[in-house]
Amino acid sequence: MTALALSSLSREELRRWLEGLGHPAYRADQIRRHLLRAGEVGFGSMSDLPLQLRTELEESAAWSTLAVLAATSADRGLTEKLLLRTGAGHELEAVMIAHPARDGSRGRRTVCVSSQAGCAIGCVFCATGRLGLRANLTAAEIVDQVLEAARRWDAQGLGRPTNVVLMGMGEPLQNYHQVVLAIRLLHEWGISGRQVVLSTSGLVPEIMQLAKEGLGVRLAISLHATEDQLRDRLVPINRRFPIASLLEAARKYAAASGRRVTLEYVLIRGVNDTPAAARSLGEMAATVRGHVNLIPMNPIPGSDLRAPSAAACREFASLVGPRATIRHSRGDRATAACGQLRASLAPEPRREARILARELALVDSPTGPPE
Ligand code: SAH
Ligand code: SF4
Repeated sequence: MTALALSSLSREELRRWLEGLGHPAYRADQIRRHLLRAGEVGFGSMSDLPLQLRTELEESAAWSTLAVLAATSADRGLTEKLLLRTGAGHELEAVMIAHPARDGSRGRRTVCVSSQAGCAIGCVFCATGRLGLRANLTAAEIVDQVLEAARRWDAQGLGRPTNVVLMGMGEPLQNYHQVVLAIRLLHEWGISGRQVVLSTSGLVPEIMQLAKEGLGVRLAISLHATEDQLRDRLVPINRRFPIASLLEAARKYAAASGRRVTLEYVLIRGVNDTPAAARSLGEMAATVRGHVNLIPMNPIPGSDLRAPSAAACREFASLVGPRATIRHSRGDRATAACGQLRASLAPEPRREARILARELALVDSPTGPPE
């Protein structure tokens, strides 16, 4: 019998499940409090629960769907990267990013979660893209990344997670139903739609569907190029959903959700960093009334692609205009930044070769025809 993942249940579902076993529904809240608490490792230590319930839980429920394989920290402990494994043996990463309270502002704690093990999109600058898709994560596996982070911050005397960004491994909109379910479940752990950012490479039909869910999540579009010819190569899904259709979807999402959309743009030296690209990025941001996050590319193993110099990044940003901010992904010193995780696992050689070939074509003739 597969164990029931507690993190797959809403509070009400857990109450009903417990009642079905003959226990009072209020035990649900007790159990849920334990799931967030430092040092908790399983049901056995939940000493405020009757022994019989603890035994039943041990027999039929899963404490967490994820095992922690490794944890590394950087930025004086403010960033922590977790290497995790699902029950089916797939590895994934999550990054915990703490922003301490400062100048009267309340501290924030953001968990960067994965939505898939690997990714099928194959963006040339992304370590995850080189792996191909290994597995879709379940909603419970997505929620458990946040609960694991909550326990670790609790152990450091910090508060609960305040924000979740779907910017780890995977394309969240290719795992649509589990991601939407996870966002609904996270709501009950105190994270509202407004505190969630979903980053996508641009699956237009799913963006439109998401707009109708009314979850209120903030959308980030991984644009990375302002011309289809280049974006076709950097972000291959562009061949199906070109830039104009993507920006139109972004506009509609912004209107439906009332949330400002962010355009993400990984800056790659000699590839997408021309003054013309900067100006047209500024115009695109204006048409969706969004903000631009410029992310100097983090180098990935086996790739010669690099970020422009710091001065060139600043120059690019000033040409984009007031809507642009340069963001250095936190955690890059923890051996993997949020958004380019999992370099630690061996890529599949054939896929690696294919993507490398595409990348070489890109550097040799940045303005040439798509392959
Ligand atoms: N698949 C989704 C979400 C995960 S990637 C997406 O692509 O939007 C999250 C962000 O990290 C994306 O904007 C992605 O382009 C960026 N990213 C990927 N590889 C990177 C690298 N090597 N350096 C900097 N940012 C990177
Ligand atoms: Fe997938 Fe996002 Fe990486 Fe592209 S950048 S390969 S969509 S995880």
